[in-house]
Parts: sequence; structure tokens; C-alpha cells
Amino acid sequence: MVGEPTSDPETWLIVAECFGVQTPTFQGEGPSCGHPALFIRLSRCNLTCERCDTKYTWDWSHFDPRKESAKRSVTDLVAWAAPSPAELIVITGGEPLIQQRNLVALVRGLLAAGKRVEFETNGTIAPDPALLIDGVRFNVSPKLAIKPFVVV
Ligand code: SF4
Repeated sequence: MVGEPTSDPETWLIVAECFGVQTPTFQGEGPSCGHPALFIRLSRCNLTCERCDTKYTWDWSHFDPRKESAKRSVTDLVAWAAPSPAELIVITGGEPLIQQRNLVALVRGLLAAGKRVEFETNGTIAPDPALLIDGVRFNVSPKLAIKPFVVV
């Protein structure tokens, strides 16, 4: 169980997009497949998979990071998600665990709002122990033929 802390107003994340509030969306991976969900897609990845379908989160030779991403506060993200009847929040990317230090506050805020959280990760970054708690699940999709990428 997570204790008191909710969200730190000073904490922010680099976000590519959030969706699922206005148009109902469903989780497409893992044990919650088919469940209504909101998605928070974080920008940046540590890999450069050729068949990536979210290159706008990291491929700055084809996309402009100033157009494809923005800083959003944890407070803002929790306020966006909290009123939705969807219980599940999927945090994806890119590779979301690049920003895991600031994700602890987001996860605490979402759990305090009655949500549960699933991370979609490429499995190359060990999760912070603060994220290994009830209400949080990791859907790991290992990638082959990886090329490390310098994150900017
Ligand atoms: S790990 Fe995922 S987001 Fe990152 S480059 Fe590969 S497919 Fe794209």
C-alpha cells in the first residue's frame, strides 16, 4: 500500500500525449487487455527499434521534440486522470522508465485517486523499488537487435 504522499507540484514529466478521456480507449496488452484505460505516453526512449510505431517520442531526425513533447506536472496529470471512470492508467512511451524518478510521484497520485497503473516497458531499465507496489504492474516487451540511443 502507498501512504500519504499524493503529488508533488514541482515534479514534471516529458509527455508525448495523453488520451482516453474523451474517446474511450482500451488496454491492448497484458493481463488487462480489453479493460477501459487512459494512456499517458511519455516522450524519449533509450532504444532505436527500426519498426517502432512511436518514433515521434525519440527520432529527432524526423520529428521535432519541441512539437512532439511537452513538460506536464504530476498535479496536472493526476487531475486529468482522476475524474475518469476508467480505473486503469497505462503509462507507456517511448520508454517510460527513463523518467522513473519523477514517476514515483505520479504513481502515488494516481493510486491515491483510486486508479491502478500499468507500465509498458522494453525491459532494459530496472524499476525503482518505489514503483514495485500494490496497484502497479509492468508489461514488459523485450526488444531484439537493440541499438542504444543517447537520450536528449
Ligand atoms: S523500445 Fe519501444 S518505444 Fe523504444 S524504440 Fe523500441 S519500439 Fe520504440
